[in-house]
Amino acid sequence: MKCPCGSDRPYADCCGPLHAGLSGAPTAETLMRSRYSAYARRDEAYLLRTWHPSTRPKHVDFEANLRWVRLDVQRTAQGSLFDSKGTVLFEAHYTMDGRPGAVKEHSTFVRENGEWLYVGEAGK
Ligand SMILES: [Zn+2]
Repeated sequence: MKCPCGSDRPYADCCGPLHAGLSGAPTAETLMRSRYSAYARRDEAYLLRTWHPSTRPKHVDFEANLRWVRLDVQRTAQGSLFDSKGTVLFEAHYTMDGRPGAVKEHSTFVRENGEWLYVGEAGK
């Protein structure tokens, strides 16, 4: 099975080990991709544990009729192995009741104790 994040790699060699807690995301973009995959797979636990405590919701709601179909990472800034923060601009495509749509977000990530965490939309 190909990974939902669009890497063209099998899930088991891509976001799977991250979701299973076997490895950590080396970069902000990797974390962002793994969170998109987690939305596609409705993995609430992974989404919550990669969410910064300052902005983390109590739970994640998944739309029953929404299917994530494609992720386009458009731009990244910082977020490398040597950074402690980074941003990723992406567009995530979905279908809702069969109708196509997309959300675009400029996300901010920070790295604490060696782990990348999602903070929220840049500038908010
Ligand atoms: Zn992946």
